Amino acid sequence: MTFQQPTQRGECERMDQLDPLAEFRDRFSLPDGVIYLDGNSLGAMPAGAAQSIGEVVSAQWGSGLIRSWNRAGWVHWPRELGAGIARLVGAQDDEVIVADSTSVNLFKLAAGALALAQQRSPGRRVILSEEGNFPTDLYVAQGIAKTAAGGCEVRLVGEGKLAEAFRDDVALALVTQVDYRSGRLHDMAQLNARARQAGVQIVWDLSHSAGALPLHLGRDGAQLAVGCGYKYLNGGPGAPAFAYVAKPLQADFPMPLAGWFGHSNPFAFAQQFLPAAGIERFQCGTPPILSLAGLRCGLATFDGVDLQLVRAKSLALSALFLHLVEAQCAGMGFRCISPRDPDARGSQLSFAHPHAWPIMQAIIDRGVIGDFRQPDLLRFGFTPLYQRYTDIWDAVAILREVMLSSAWDDARYRARNIVT
Ligand SMILES: *Cc1c(COP(=O)(O)O)cnc(C)c1O
Repeated sequence: MTFQQPTQRGECERMDQLDPLAEFRDRFSLPDGVIYLDGNSLGAMPAGAAQSIGEVVSAQWGSGLIRSWNRAGWVHWPRELGAGIARLVGAQDDEVIVADSTSVNLFKLAAGALALAQQRSPGRRVILSEEGNFPTDLYVAQGIAKTAAGGCEVRLVGEGKLAEAFRDDVALALVTQVDYRSGRLHDMAQLNARARQAGVQIVWDLSHSAGALPLHLGRDGAQLAVGCGYKYLNGGPGAPAFAYVAKPLQADFPMPLAGWFGHSNPFAFAQQFLPAAGIERFQCGTPPILSLAGLRCGLATFDGVDLQLVRAKSLALSALFLHLVEAQCAGMGFRCISPRDPDARGSQLSFAHPHAWPIMQAIIDRGVIGDFRQPDLLRFGFTPLYQRYTDIWDAVAILREVMLSSAWDDARYRARNIVT
């Protein structure tokens, strides 16, 4: 950053006044006394969520009962919400469907892509991924390797080594665009171009990029992708995920989890699976309507939002946070492990510290919510629709205070929770 970072809180107040995204904070319901830096794990609750989900429960479910599948249009929600996500990720409306979880969608797209690759060239039997990839991505690959008809092996490579590992025995690569620990961002267009040359299919995991930065799946040559509904998309705990399949791949894609909602005519109750021609094929069973109601509220928080502005503010917030930690918490043992080049990171920063767990518990206790990641990371997510520059200032002031006072070194902050 070439511009001067603030040295006083008043300068952050001024930045908030000039912030073109400031008005969007009202779209969220945030508890008093909380600075929320964990929207990368679970997005904040949209302001109208309780009322809107409540209406789906009482009017559509309670009164409408089964008629609501047609009258309230429930049956179309996976497509409609998919189209909403398509606009955020640079896809066409009929290339994205909301269904299942990220893990399940990874399985569907990866197992199908493996089968397709092996039909064309049986020698391609490797699923490639990165060593530090999110565990569910690795587990899904391992599970596919156990059952793949044509045989399959999982091969992991170190960070930055994917493109050179695109060899002729590789069928597909599972690539998470933004690393959940470091926040390192892959250049999607470049990696897709390398993969295409090498005959490798990439299945992108956009869990930490959809809603966090502008994406151009079509323009950048992505063909298959999945992503998460409850992180930057604000869909609520366990919200359904999405799957993106580029139009040319849809019609012949072998759906490994064939279910009746992927049938071309589910209510014909036919004996034989005849998959839908388009993106509907990538559904399996009945959509979870109440959870979709939450995701619908989450996607509405993006109405009229310019993701270029979101990206610009995300980088400004993270640059400010990094600067303040290094200036105000110097010598306290924090080591930033995220890329310093803003173009090379997503919308988060992680710091290694030998006492990361109790420090995080101590600041959470004081209203600054980030999260801990194994083995020694404090992770902070930046969500420009509801964060202010003054929040960043105040969060670092609290972190500094917890360090100076040794408040973190207290027995009550040592106990580990199940969910970190
Ligand atoms: C959060 C996350 C997931 C989540 O998968 P679920 O099936 O929703 O539990 C998957 N992949 C990555 C990279 C993630 O960050």
